[in-house]
Amino acid sequence: MPFSPDIAGHEGQIATLRQALAQDRLHHAYVFVGPAGVGKRTVALALAKAVHCGAATHDFCGRCENCVKIDNRNHPDVRLLQPLPGKRDISIEQVRTLERQLAYRSFSGGKKIVVIDPASLMNLAAQNALLKTLEEPPAGSVLILVSESAGGLLPTLLSRCLRLSFAPLPAAVIAAHLAAERRLSREQAALLAAVSFGSLGRALDPDMEEVARKREAWVDGIAAVARSGGGAWTALAEGLSKDREETLEFLDWLAAWYRDILIFLAAENVGEVSNLDLIDKLKAQAARLSLEGALALRSRALDAAARVRRNINRRMVLENLFVDIAAR
Ligand SMILES: [Zn+2]
Repeated sequence: MPFSPDIAGHEGQIATLRQALAQDRLHHAYVFVGPAGVGKRTVALALAKAVHCGAATHDFCGRCENCVKIDNRNHPDVRLLQPLPGKRDISIEQVRTLERQLAYRSFSGGKKIVVIDPASLMNLAAQNALLKTLEEPPAGSVLILVSESAGGLLPTLLSRCLRLSFAPLPAAVIAAHLAAERRLSREQAALLAAVSFGSLGRALDPDMEEVARKREAWVDGIAAVARSGGGAWTALAEGLSKDREETLEFLDWLAAWYRDILIFLAAENVGEVSNLDLIDKLKAQAARLSLEGALALRSRALDAAARVRRNINRRMVLENLFVDIAAR
């Protein structure tokens, strides 16, 4: 297995990097784009280890001095750029410091690797400064920009990076990892994997067990809204809008729920459904919807999540969404 057996689900991206490494044709800048918690940073640091490992060739051992230093974030040729403690963004000063560091020769003789995560937290000035660096990339360095979406990055910056997309992890990969690492039963692991939406980081979050419980209440709430046509949504919207994170958690889940309904309506393919433990409730809601209706509601849920992320009044966003659900 290239790099490491515990980075399952991204074999294509890892193969691309490994081949480039083996042929000494690593690009000077990459952007890794994909949802949070799917292993983008892990793959970036795995590449750094594969470059510097003293024991393995084009791979890493995880035990040698270089591998351990990279894991401990104190390898002189591998840097992780993120907002400083207490700061919300990555500043132009940080990028300038980085530029100076890249101008020195590497300590080990190998390539210098910089992982910028989350790259979208670079403010505009910082991105412009980095753009100048990328216009004349320092020899022997590899920059990896890690981001949940390409949206927060300057198009001119993106155009200078080789893009690798990271898809959500298949539920089976997450379930297998949870069963092995957390010693969960197969049912518990499958349940957590189902609510993680392809994010191992999310599945490993202790809060996810609570989400698994909450989800059942959400399903019943949505069913009540769809049935009653009026009134039921006011209380639901009020409860869900109290906490921004919870609102977003709900809306992300709701989009996945309608995706499940779409899969079920289009193909009756239960194997692809992520809310498998709620399949009876899913079938009941699917029976009330057309394909077109489920598609419309899924895009309304995604749209609502985007509005909440832009800090539009949460309760209003939820009530409007529930009106649409009741009308279908
Ligand atoms: Zn090693």
